[in-house]
Amino acid sequence: MNILIVDDDSTYRRLLATILKAKHHEVAEAADGLAAWDLLQHDQYPFVISDWMMPGLNGLELVQHIRAANFSNYTYIILLTARNTRADIVGGLESGADDYLTKPFDLDELRARVAIGERILDLETRLRHTMEQLQILATYDSLTGLLNRRALYEAINNECSRARRGDTPISLIMLDIDHFKMINDQHGHLTGDQALCHVTHTILQYKRSYDLVGRWGGEEFLMALPGADLPEAGSVAERLRTELNANPLPIAEGKLLHIHASFGVATLNTAENSSLDHSIQQVDRALYRAKNNGRDQVCFYTEES
Ligand code: GH3
Ligand code: MG
Ligand code: MG
Repeated sequence: MNILIVDDDSTYRRLLATILKAKHHEVAEAADGLAAWDLLQHDQYPFVISDWMMPGLNGLELVQHIRAANFSNYTYIILLTARNTRADIVGGLESGADDYLTKPFDLDELRARVAIGERILDLETRLRHTMEQLQILATYDSLTGLLNRRALYEAINNECSRARRGDTPISLIMLDIDHFKMINDQHGHLTGDQALCHVTHTILQYKRSYDLVGRWGGEEFLMALPGADLPEAGSVAERLRTELNANPLPIAEGKLLHIHASFGVATLNTAENSSLDHSIQQVDRALYRAKNNGRDQVCFYTEES
């Protein structure tokens, strides 16, 4: 554990450092609150043991600075001071300190209280890790690794706001694998999953870094192309379609699985402030036409259509 000791009394600093190093902690020292605050700007110290009375920035003010800074990781703080009235202790804890020890302190008590802090920091780390995992699960599709529907919608919606502000075009491509149910029925669900990953791989190969793509539904993918007008998005869709046709997926026994898809293309009318939902309806309608016209093709949404 990386522990920062803050005390203007060098004897106390040395004593604390010796005790903590004996417990295999890494120790940094600061002679007052300002020096500590400076160190905290440059390095992460999950654990701070600070004296209260110090020149410059005192211990209470240091605690308040740390709490107000809202560092990404929690800082566990023990106030260590000669002030030992009930009002002092309550004031110290209310300022945001996690624990309080009065000088002169008992060595065993100090070790025990440091261990409590370590347990709490460990819990906090595990909680943060779990929350990060949940965030990933809530954002990405587990099979393809693409954004899921909800996260994609949110990302595209942000991009649409930007396009409206800058009055730049943004287009959508919706892709649906043709007769996918048949792939599942004839080759099994696992091959179906492989086909979804194959399509994903093809899309990722051809998308520009700032294009957004996600899994919209079972075998449906949605892309947003900032800066692209309808014809540009159409040629991207056409290139994807050709690529899919040119690269069948190798499956068992040296066989090749030919995967085809239908594409709808639409563009967001930024001038008329039309909504993303409206454009999604349009791209969906264009895709529906591509299916009805015989599949394996790109159809555009236009006012006339
Ligand atoms: P169309 O050309 O009209 O799009 O026909 P289709 O068979 O592709 O469309 P349909 O909607 O009838 O079938 C889609 C199938 O996709 C049904 C569903 O079981 C399958 N599916 C959805 N999600 C997954 C998945 O994650 N893995 C696999 N293997 N199949 C899936
Ligand atoms: Mg389909
Ligand atoms: Mg479908």
